[in-house]
Amino acid sequence: MSENADAHHPTLPNAPMGLASVKEPVTGHIVSNDSCLKGKSASFVRHTAIDISGTPLEGRCLVGQAFGVLAPGVDERGKPHKVRLYSIACPDDGEDGAGCVISTTTKRVIDERYPQKKGDDPGDHSLFLGVCSNYMCDLRPGDPIQVTGPNGKRFLLPEPTSRRNHDYVFVAAGTGIAPFRGMAMELLQRNPISSQVHLVMGAPYTTDLIYDDLFTELAAEHPNFHYYRAISRETRPDGRRGQYVHHLMDERMDLFGPVLANPRTLLYICGLAGMQSGLFKAMAQHGVDDGYFTLKKSLAGVDPADWQLSQIRRGVRCTPRCMVEVY
Ligand SMILES: Cc1cc2nc3c(=O)[nH]c(=O)nc-3n(C[C@H](O)[C@H](O)[C@H](O)COP(=O)(O)OP(=O)(O)OC[C@H]3O[C@@H](n4cnc5c(N)ncnc54)[C@H](O)[C@@H]3O)c2cc1C
Repeated sequence: MSENADAHHPTLPNAPMGLASVKEPVTGHIVSNDSCLKGKSASFVRHTAIDISGTPLEGRCLVGQAFGVLAPGVDERGKPHKVRLYSIACPDDGEDGAGCVISTTTKRVIDERYPQKKGDDPGDHSLFLGVCSNYMCDLRPGDPIQVTGPNGKRFLLPEPTSRRNHDYVFVAAGTGIAPFRGMAMELLQRNPISSQVHLVMGAPYTTDLIYDDLFTELAAEHPNFHYYRAISRETRPDGRRGQYVHHLMDERMDLFGPVLANPRTLLYICGLAGMQSGLFKAMAQHGVDDGYFTLKKSLAGVDPADWQLSQIRRGVRCTPRCMVEVY
């Protein structure tokens, strides 16, 4: 890593945490709960906005943090459902500009059941519905919801006065787009700066793109905002196979190479667990990993072309310039 690497590290704000606990959650109320997918799709994703005014969370949630939701009822052991976390999808001052309404991007977990652990019935292919995501997607304006948090102190934008010292590369898969909606609004609309902001969004099909209209509009209005879509399960117009986010960035290193090589740049990755591995490999192969991560012994000296994904998961340590939130 370069000698003055620390000089390029972001100064993060002191994020408030745990203002509402699982034992003492606050009651918010649903403001809106609308689909935010581009088209008719096999998946269901909603933009869920929650009024938290008058609670300790009002004005205290930062984009990049998450909040917890407690679904009513009990699990199969008769215990109250555990808290589930959801990324904040609005700017620091909320949807309303006053910190009273926070939002997230809720995807219904819906599938056929398959074995998760030893002893599960392999013949059971009945409908599986995730508890909290379906509870949230069913909610209507005015409904109460039990909220905890905020959570998270690392996956954050730099504090406002130092944001202009950086450029930003956001890489999202699926609902990993949630924080980048809020971050893009923060950097382009609420407290606009001229830094370059690149957003790479991954989805299986074009119809699964989330907030696509918003990002298309932002890209048209702000020359410093660049929006790229990686569609993995559709053949591309030129006949080539679909691509994941790391394929897109790998293919477009003519563009991303100089951005990533610039010590101003901060890299944020959010979405499916494991999505960072392909990207780290591509960055190392193109020699633009310096400043974003260091290698543990298991990978040191190994040609990046030979890195196995499981090795990357264990052998890469992110620096403060690389923020990863995967689940
Ligand atoms: C920091 C963080 C931020 C997050 N942000 C978001 C966000 O912005 N938006 C969002 O939608 N989610 C987000 N999540 C995920 C979210 O917390 C929940 O995990 C998700 O909504 C599923 O919860 P659920 O209660 O609906 O599903 P659950 O009832 O918890 O079911 C999911 C669990 O069931 C099991 N399972 C899954 N599929 C099957 C199957 N087919 N058959 C049998 N068992 C199965 C798995 O063990 C899985 O963990 C985030 C998670 C973290 C940690």
